[in-house]
Amino acid sequence: MTPCRASRKDGQPCGATLGLSDGLCIHHDPKRADQARTNRRAKPAARPPLTTVTMEELPTDLTSVEACNRAAEQVYRLVMTGRIAPQVAKEATAALREKRIALTIEHETKKKLKEIQKTLAEQGRP
Ligand SMILES: [Zn+2]
Repeated sequence: MTPCRASRKDGQPCGATLGLSDGLCIHHDPKRADQARTNRRAKPAARPPLTTVTMEELPTDLTSVEACNRAAEQVYRLVMTGRIAPQVAKEATAALREKRIALTIEHETKKKLKEIQKTLAEQGRP
C-alpha cells in the first residue's frame, strides 16, 4: 500500500498506511481535520502499564538487613531492565527501607536488653 503522500513537520514523509483517503492519512487530510481533532480529544493519554512481578518472583526472605539488601538489589535489576515500572520500584524500595529500619531497631533493642540483663546478673539480681 502506498503510504500517506504528505510530509511531517520535519520534512520527512508521513509514512502512515492506515485509514488513507485520497492518499492522505487522517492527520493530513484537511477534509477530516474535525474528525482527527475529535479523535485526539476522545483518547486520554495512554499510561504505560504498571508492570509488577508475580508472587513467585517476589523475594521471600526479608528477615534480616542483609536479606533486605539483596531484595533491594533485585528491585534495582528489575527496574533497570524494564521488568518493573519506576513507580513500582519506588514503592518496593520504600517498603524495604521501612523493613530495614524496623530490623535495625529490633536488633538494637535486643542488644540493649541483653546488656541490662547482664548488668543485673552481675549485681546478683535475677
Ligand atoms: Zn499523513
